[in-house]
Amino acid sequence: AAECPRVHDFVERWATEKPEVEAVSFGERRVSWAELDDRVRRAAGVLRSSGIGPGDRFAVVDKNHLACLELTLAASFTGAVNVVVNFRLASEELVHVLNDSTAEVVVVGAEFAGFLDEIRGRLPRVREVILLGGDEDEYEARLAAAEPVAQPHRSAPEDCFLQLYTSGTTGWPKGTMLTQRSMTAHANALTPAYELEESSTNIVAMPLFHVGGTSWALGGMSVGARTILVREVAPAALRDLIEASRATHAFFVPAVIHALIDDGARARTAMAHLRVLGYGGSPMPAPLMERVLSVLPTPLHSVYGMTEMSGVFCALGPQEHRDEQRTHLRASAGRPLPGTEVRVVDPATGDDVEPGELGEFWVRSEQRMAGYWNMPDATAETITPDGWLRTGDAGRRDGEGYLYIEDRVKDMIITGGENVYPAEVERVVLEFPGVADVAVIGVAHDKWGETVKAVVVPDEGESLDEQALIDFTRSRLAHYKCPTSVSAVSALPRNPTGKILKRVLRSQLSDS
Ligand code: ATP
Ligand code: MG
Repeated sequence: AAECPRVHDFVERWATEKPEVEAVSFGERRVSWAELDDRVRRAAGVLRSSGIGPGDRFAVVDKNHLACLELTLAASFTGAVNVVVNFRLASEELVHVLNDSTAEVVVVGAEFAGFLDEIRGRLPRVREVILLGGDEDEYEARLAAAEPVAQPHRSAPEDCFLQLYTSGTTGWPKGTMLTQRSMTAHANALTPAYELEESSTNIVAMPLFHVGGTSWALGGMSVGARTILVREVAPAALRDLIEASRATHAFFVPAVIHALIDDGARARTAMAHLRVLGYGGSPMPAPLMERVLSVLPTPLHSVYGMTEMSGVFCALGPQEHRDEQRTHLRASAGRPLPGTEVRVVDPATGDDVEPGELGEFWVRSEQRMAGYWNMPDATAETITPDGWLRTGDAGRRDGEGYLYIEDRVKDMIITGGENVYPAEVERVVLEFPGVADVAVIGVAHDKWGETVKAVVVPDEGESLDEQALIDFTRSRLAHYKCPTSVSAVSALPRNPTGKILKRVLRSQLSDS
């Protein structure tokens, strides 16, 4: 088709088909499709009046807010780029991300205005700050006064409208340029796989700065579902909201699911209407999986995705989760969604490995980002000339095509020329009595290059016999995979989605 579908198109469509029907709720606010259409056009007007045109970047720094979703749609409408920033970043990181993004205008939540003020002097590109929320809601006032924009910008499929930063698990967060094509392809793959449809009510509780927030929301909205946007996760309140809104769809990271099912019976009633409970973004520990399956009758759908792929590209469905003959499937990330090809490749040679063997997942699909903003080298290292994206995830594919994520390629330890994937070692260490949590990392070694170290969180009040732990692993794993040293710590450094920050751990241990 000459005209490429654009992300905001659905707003106009549903505003025409069902203007009075609720599109989004946010706290006490209810916004119909007609109102949403009007607000997006006004938001486009606000952007214009602030001098933000096609290709220009602006940023939003706030917890989840209706305005952030509207501004993403307005970015699509006007050809501008919304950079949704992680409000939890420390000031150094926030300065880095805002400067890196080249955002000229920042919409900042009232809660974060003071924080932004403190670093304002170090943000030379920012020429305007618009306050959102609070008593003097500048944004809402600007919106009310704005001229709604009638005609959308004629974006090309490869035009970026949304820039999200990766979680920074393996290095500095990288700005991924998500495009009209990548996000449209994502919505088209997401909605049938997770049975999101017009009659659905979709809870969006993941932060919008994360692909699991914004892309999940846009997917549901694209098919005309009702969106319940949650400002921030408080488990008890979230449980009540799931119940009161009769939500049919939700996506959470494992840490949130853990908190939600804490009181089993209450969780079961609250989630009675859920037809799809999506989880993922980081590994789901096996004990938690077993507990979820026993506490909730809800159909489970796994989500394996990444910022660079506009969201999810691989999923495991509810039948497979409850397949008593093939319980090993519960540990799988599932199979690629339609439209995505996956290879499992030896990262050193670029050749496919045999089924069942460990390698790096390479993926190819229209969901792929255009590249990393302002990082041509990192982009070239990540996207091959024939369009494959190196995920940086190591894992295997079984004979039936199910993927199993094992580890990060960057966390792989090479000791005496042998590759060790920490996840395999961590599983064994966790079986040792008195171990609550563990991260296995490589530390420098004169003879072997690197050697394996286990950083262990002992069960409360327990002390750990380090030599006994090492002996335990040596009875279960090839000796080169076994820790040669053990450190006990009280907690492991994690990012907000619950991923262990091994780079932080490595630098903490090399400092001491
Ligand atoms: P960075 O790229 O900056 O190091 P990140 O990779 O954690 O950070 P995201 O794009 O938010 O940033 O996360 C994508 C990664 O999360 C995937 O590459 C994978 O490692 C992990 N992940 C996503 N879904 C799952 C899942 N279902 N199970 C296990 N890991 C997952
Ligand atoms: Mg990544």
